[in-house]
Amino acid sequence: MKTILVTGGCGFIGSNLCMRLLNENNKVICVDNLYSSKIENIKNCMNNQNFTFINHNIIEPLHIDNCIDEIYHLACPASPPIYQKDPIYTLKTNFIGTMNLLELARIKSSKILLSSTSEIYGEPQISPQPETYRGNVNTIGIRSCYDEGKRIAETLFMDYHNKYNLQTRIVRIFNTYGPNMDKHDGRVVTNFINQILNNESITLYGDGSQTRSFQYIDDLLDGIIKLMNSDYIYPINIGNPNEITIKQLAYILGELTNSELKITYKPLPLDDPTNRNPDIQLAKKILNWEPKVELRSGLIKTIKYLQNC
Ligand code: UDP
Repeated sequence: MKTILVTGGCGFIGSNLCMRLLNENNKVICVDNLYSSKIENIKNCMNNQNFTFINHNIIEPLHIDNCIDEIYHLACPASPPIYQKDPIYTLKTNFIGTMNLLELARIKSSKILLSSTSEIYGEPQISPQPETYRGNVNTIGIRSCYDEGKRIAETLFMDYHNKYNLQTRIVRIFNTYGPNMDKHDGRVVTNFINQILNNESITLYGDGSQTRSFQYIDDLLDGIIKLMNSDYIYPINIGNPNEITIKQLAYILGELTNSELKITYKPLPLDDPTNRNPDIQLAKKILNWEPKVELRSGLIKTIKYLQNC
């Protein structure tokens, strides 16, 4: 039985990960300050004796008495409208928060995994994006606090590995969806599903020709757990290469809910990437991982979840 600390454990990805790690018979310490997450997400973990919740803001140093085998460092607001609300907080979480977690990992000799992001590729000029692509990020735009925050977090991870030989892992996560997404996070999957279920027009930003590649949460969890268990220290993409336009996503959701789509066009937010598509050759080779869940079946589960919350 391992003791595993999950920062951001009450968020969408974190809460699904906590449940999965408990089911695999680990002790889980969930650290979250509920800034952009909900305690209800971990209600099914709370009655498990191997689960502990600590309400803590990782911008402050974190002291833990137990031994810790592994740390999954996921804490950071991730939805554009939410991370843009207080950009300096987002930056502090990624820089100071990440340093605090790396210090904890150093003291405890824990393995530590960073949830980085496809956002570090910015407005990509090549497609699909391999890990060797260095990205095209605006340093002073409205998305920069997240994009540059994650870039500095990756740098810190490599520097702690190089200086202290810390066992670090870096995953670049592409758009992910599934149960426990915050209904009001303002992201495209939740916005469109809520709007369709409420019989409202969907808000399509721009002309809807921008693309994303959506992966289901279970595929992501398989990938990050495999990465933690590997000895690969460099960044690795985990995403589903099934790239679609946002307009296509709207029509797929209309079809799955038997709804006639009403669309309201809104301006494209500043610096909104025109495309995103993971090159997953490395994940296939190093982790023997590839996504399994087909978009429609994952969306059906997500619609059911959002209908009931
Ligand atoms: N989007 C949209 N309508 C919405 C919310 C988002 O058309 O109500 C678009 C957004 O402009 C972007 C894509 O959907 O091009 C994905 O946005 P999201 O906020 O989910 O994540 P991102 O990939 O931009 O971080």
